[in-house]
Amino acid sequence: MKDRAKFVADIRQTLLNRKQEMDEALSKQSHEKLTDGVVQDSADEALSLSMEKLQNSLQQTEIEELRLMEEALVRIDSGEYGVCLDCSEPIAEKRLEHFPFAARCIVCQEGVEQK
Ligand SMILES: [Zn+2]
Repeated sequence: MKDRAKFVADIRQTLLNRKQEMDEALSKQSHEKLTDGVVQDSADEALSLSMEKLQNSLQQTEIEELRLMEEALVRIDSGEYGVCLDCSEPIAEKRLEHFPFAARCIVCQEGVEQK
């Protein structure tokens, strides 16, 4: 096996950087929402409502991603990271590179998604 500890440390750093970026983006977004609330007529109002909807759904995705990142970081710190939740086999490093939040190996993940 390659140096797994180094590999996991790299992923941890990547996750921490990304998490920090997102924390900043999210706090900026909610700040903007508070400041640009001026609505002029009903067309603008409709537009502003749909923008808000879009922003909310974007924020939902980001919040979900943040949650997954935090979970991955917890698993890294507790030494459980990179091991499949279901079958306890090590998860392929290629998979972790593409899906740093992966908590299951490909085989078990497919099983979960088919349910
Ligand atoms: Zn598995």
